[in-house]
Amino acid sequence: MSTDHRSSQFDIAVIGAGVIGCAIARQFTLEGARVVVIEKAPDILDGASKANSAILHTGFDAPPGSIEASCVAAGHAEYLKIHERLGLPLIKSGALVIAWTESEEQRLPMLMERARENGVEDVQLLSAGQTHELEPELAEHAKASFIVPREYVIDPWSAPYGYLLQGLANGAVIKRNCEVKGGCFDGVRWKLDTVQGQISATTVINAAGLYGDIIDQKLTGSTRFSIKPRKGQFIVYDKPASALVKHILLPVPNDVTKGVVICRTAYGNLLVGPTAEAQDDRVNAALSETAMTALRQRGEEILPALADHDVTAVYAGLRPATEFKDYQIHAHEGLNYITVGGIRSTGLSSALGTAKLIYQRYLESGEAFQPPATIHWPKVSNIAENYPRDWQCEGNQGIVCHCELVTRREITEALEGPLAVRSIGGLKRRTRATMGRCQGFYCSAELAKMTQPYFDAAGSTVRSHVGAN
Ligand SMILES: Cc1cc2nc3c(=O)[nH]c(=O)nc-3n(C[C@H](O)[C@H](O)[C@H](O)COP(=O)(O)OP(=O)(O)OC[C@H]3O[C@@H](n4cnc5c(N)ncnc54)[C@H](O)[C@@H]3O)c2cc1C
Repeated sequence: MSTDHRSSQFDIAVIGAGVIGCAIARQFTLEGARVVVIEKAPDILDGASKANSAILHTGFDAPPGSIEASCVAAGHAEYLKIHERLGLPLIKSGALVIAWTESEEQRLPMLMERARENGVEDVQLLSAGQTHELEPELAEHAKASFIVPREYVIDPWSAPYGYLLQGLANGAVIKRNCEVKGGCFDGVRWKLDTVQGQISATTVINAAGLYGDIIDQKLTGSTRFSIKPRKGQFIVYDKPASALVKHILLPVPNDVTKGVVICRTAYGNLLVGPTAEAQDDRVNAALSETAMTALRQRGEEILPALADHDVTAVYAGLRPATEFKDYQIHAHEGLNYITVGGIRSTGLSSALGTAKLIYQRYLESGEAFQPPATIHWPKVSNIAENYPRDWQCEGNQGIVCHCELVTRREITEALEGPLAVRSIGGLKRRTRATMGRCQGFYCSAELAKMTQPYFDAAGSTVRSHVGAN
């Protein structure tokens, strides 16, 4: 097994730089593998991972015994273990699962039992009075709830970025703008055909998210699942609205969706969403007026004072759902190929755990690598509200985006850093520039000037539009 980091013959090719691909790249690199991550977009996190609710789930409601349940539990534990070393934020909110009807109230004990089966022992039943004591702005008709103390809010973008950054700092390679078109396995090595030419690796890991089934078809000639994207639309309220809640407010989940959540974001806003809408389109996450009206209405039913608050932005994401409830993880015998598909609604939480599982699966048919003597721990620049920000530090060269207090130094570092951004979407996710109240109205011209030397023609347009991700 090659561990020569100067070699261009990779041990592992990970297709897709979503949160799952980034975590897998980190895991294999820290085990000593020579890893290449291949991503078709100009930047990482361009698929399902660009727009989620940002909750670090405990997995309390996952089907007991499922792959998802074990990956979420392991991912949650690993995030807590490493987040400080990588500079990743954690908002220790806890969650309340709230029953609004008698039939929902009757389901609470069953859900708490399931939580305990999933190893989430610290759930506790709360009466209507206790629930209102914890959340005084909650509508009066809340019947009861249970608290899940270890459900947290995280930064959905700096987490995967931090995983990949650590992979790169320890020898991994990323190829962006590099769509995988096909490939073949000669019994020993894969040769992947990409728009940038051939890439050779001993093992391929398919982490292509919304395209997982298509990549399976192209490379192995068959697939065991089909992706049916499930759209989720969100409303983001202005920062003052975040004072209305302390916990993540969860509804009683059903078999299809976790339902409409209300929670603070790591950036200090308040989030209401998502919807759950099945569609065939794998790209288009169009917003609808009907969904926005319904979300506003539901938000105000739960927190009546929301009616007095303004909306900052709206956005939507696509979950890589399949016909199966559980994750679709398959090692293809004799092919040196592992599919990591159908990571639908919990991938942000499970990613580090899923990566560990994939490494275990790999070990069943491959050899162990030789871990590097020293492991580097690069730190991600913080963009979360409740941690020190660059605008508070000396030498930041002034603020460019005044809504989100993004400094010139932060933008320059994002454009020049080890995983330099190459699209305006990437810049937003890395720094939050243009993501605030004015949606880029004031800073777009300055950003266009700053990014112009770095972006190619396709990525050079800096535009403001509500809901851009
Ligand atoms: C509305 C919504 C709410 C959610 N809320 C939460 C939450 O609160 N907590 C949580 O834990 N999870 C949540 N999730 C789930 C989580 O976001 C997903 O599980 C996760 O993003 C899936 O990541 P992935 O890496 O599998 O896929 P993706 O992010 O889609 O990554 C796949 C990558 O592969 C690339 N790719 C595809 N085809 C090719 C090719 N041919 N060549 C090269 N590259 C290719 C794509 O461009 C993409 O970047 C939510 C999801 C949604 C949509």
